[in-house]
Amino acid sequence: MWPATPYLLPATTKKERTHPVDTLPPCPKCSCEYAYEDGPMLICPECAHEWDPAAASDSALVIKDANGNLLADGDTVVVLKDLKVKGSSLVVKVGTKVRNIRLVDSDHDIDCKIPGIGAMGLKSEFVKKA
Ligand SMILES: [Zn+2]
Repeated sequence: MWPATPYLLPATTKKERTHPVDTLPPCPKCSCEYAYEDGPMLICPECAHEWDPAAASDSALVIKDANGNLLADGDTVVVLKDLKVKGSSLVVKVGTKVRNIRLVDSDHDIDCKIPGIGAMGLKSEFVKKA
């Protein structure tokens, strides 16, 4: 007799969704939260702006660390060189761990809070993923 085969649950299948149904993003123009769907497009009732939320997510920031690894919001990075804080005598020391970064599209790439210093803008070329 063969031993009874234990019943295996199928691996969880990821459901493909074009965009979340429960939370529609706010209008990129006026930040109105009452945008509604019209086919693949979202329409803002306040300023009549129409946009494609899928296209918006395609243009997500691509920011790489010094080693060429992709960084993402919420990542922890390590500072690779001493960085002077503009307008102060503070220095972010090499090896400083920075938790919960946020990627931005600005003169710097990373918004973060550094322990003992506070909110800072970092450049991705001076950090590596922890
Ligand atoms: Zn709007």
